[in-house]
Amino acid sequence: MESIMAELSPVLKQATPVLAARGEGVYLFDEDDRRYLDFTAGIGVTSTGHCHPRVVEAAQRQVGTLIHGQYTTVMHRPLLRLTERLGEVLPSGLDRVFYVNSGSEAVEASVRLARQATGRQNIVAFEGGFHGRTMGAGALTSSGVKIRAGLGPMMPGVAFSPFPETYRHGWSQAEAVRFALRELDQLLLTVTSPADTAAFIIEPVLGEGGYIPAPPEFLEGLRERADRHGILLIVDEVQTGVGRTGRFWGHDHAGIRPDIIITAKGLASGFPLSAIAAGQELMSKAWPGSQGGTYGGNAVAAAAALATLDVVRDENLVDNAAEQGARLKEGLRKVAAEYPVIGDVRGLGLMVGNEFTTDDGRPDTATATRAHKAAAERGLLLLTCGPHGNVVRMIPPLVVNSQQVDEAVSLWSEAVKNAVS
Ligand code: PMP
Repeated sequence: MESIMAELSPVLKQATPVLAARGEGVYLFDEDDRRYLDFTAGIGVTSTGHCHPRVVEAAQRQVGTLIHGQYTTVMHRPLLRLTERLGEVLPSGLDRVFYVNSGSEAVEASVRLARQATGRQNIVAFEGGFHGRTMGAGALTSSGVKIRAGLGPMMPGVAFSPFPETYRHGWSQAEAVRFALRELDQLLLTVTSPADTAAFIIEPVLGEGGYIPAPPEFLEGLRERADRHGILLIVDEVQTGVGRTGRFWGHDHAGIRPDIIITAKGLASGFPLSAIAAGQELMSKAWPGSQGGTYGGNAVAAAAALATLDVVRDENLVDNAAEQGARLKEGLRKVAAEYPVIGDVRGLGLMVGNEFTTDDGRPDTATATRAHKAAAERGLLLLTCGPHGNVVRMIPPLVVNSQQVDEAVSLWSEAVKNAVS
């Protein structure tokens, strides 16, 4: 009988041609045992590095005990323990937690909660933001048209307001914040009245949209307007959370209090797990049973998350992210000083972007693409982001050390040299 081989769908777009066989710490190895310095961390997921022994051990132990304790049917101890433990790191007062599997699902969960709790429908998202690919989370996303192209109407009730960008407009931070808050006030006056607006949703650092930190004054301005109008402030910490920015949460840099926080990616070192957290009063306004899912709060993922939080604490990974992030940024700025095609190096902690621009300030996607490819050829795995794909981002595991940072900067310098020559 003729055998028929299936193939992966061409819808899958892969950033590098690597066939990964195993991972260890900051390194990935392909099937020929070629070593790559992984400054993608699986899009910011492998916070404790690939296969951290404590995460592996916790997951293995749980696999042999209980894999699937379906949480709308029975409860299991790993989820209860994780929830208790999250209480130590969540912003004060946000002590009611609900779990799903992915960032997109958690974003959807936050929208459901915000709509049910306020009785209002509209959500204001910010230009360039990325919140996921489902029809709800995708409707809140404006980081690139590929999330929406050809998909027809997505979730209704979404309005967009500008994100304060300095580099793109050549503005100071104060000018960018003033502009963005003025536009938001105008939106509330002309498009979605406060009485119809359930929530603002924002990333503390625009991720897929180009690695642009939100100025603290902007987040403070959102908090003030949210309080004034009874609008909820949802902070999407899917990429920025769990130490990535050098503080436990990205919004800690601004010192504001969210009403709902969303976490995923780095939370479980690679196991699918996400969560939203809010205060008791708000969570109690959700319709019981209106949220859930077959795989939500999986026992193995919960055990891995618990081990992840322990490793983050015991190995001081938040401080390490701040320290190594500063070292990385300094090294990258030296490279940018040598190659003017890199117009901006920015970010918080271990979330750093290199924006490529032409002499007259236009996005230089071609050179960014060449540099990204040249880096992979030299054993440094990176990702691109931004609507034009002209920002090369570096997002290594939080366990990265100085020597690995220096090695990455040196490989990057060679890659950029190759891309411009
Ligand atoms: N929010 C943010 C800020 C993200 O960066 C992402 C993923 N890149 C998501 C939501 C969606 O997460 P997922 O891909 O797990 O659905």
